[in-house]
Amino acid sequence: MVEKDCVFCKIVAGELPSEIVYEDDDILAFKDINPVAPVHILLIPKKHIPTITDIEEEDAALMGKLLLAAGKVADKMGIFDRGFRLVNNCREEGGQMVYHLHFHLLGGKQFGSVG
Ligand code: 5GP
Ligand code: ZN
Repeated sequence: MVEKDCVFCKIVAGELPSEIVYEDDDILAFKDINPVAPVHILLIPKKHIPTITDIEEEDAALMGKLLLAAGKVADKMGIFDRGFRLVNNCREEGGQMVYHLHFHLLGGKQFGSVG
């Protein structure tokens, strides 16, 4: 399912360039265009799901794959043992800008407590 005005669907389709760091049949991970940490990767399902609140039962395995990919990407980026932060911004008050479900994998620096 491709949403024609979705920037991340365009990246999945190869219509927009990106620096891909991991790809399999269901998941894509690429560098954030505006990094806020030394490592800042966006992890997305290739399937267009707008927000984390739009996940359905049939997406359960896909979400598991996304979390497994987070570990693989963290390993590839050299932050598996040091630790990292995995962030999802959901809807307006969550600060979501792109309405294609994604996790920010942030690392390479020390974070404080959330909030
Ligand atoms: P959100 O606020 O929706 O959680 O975060 C969206 C993220 O997508 C932002 O960190 C922004 O820098 C990133 N982003 C937006 N457009 C593009 C793009 O075309 N390419 C890449 N690589 N990142 C993008
Ligand atoms: Zn999309």
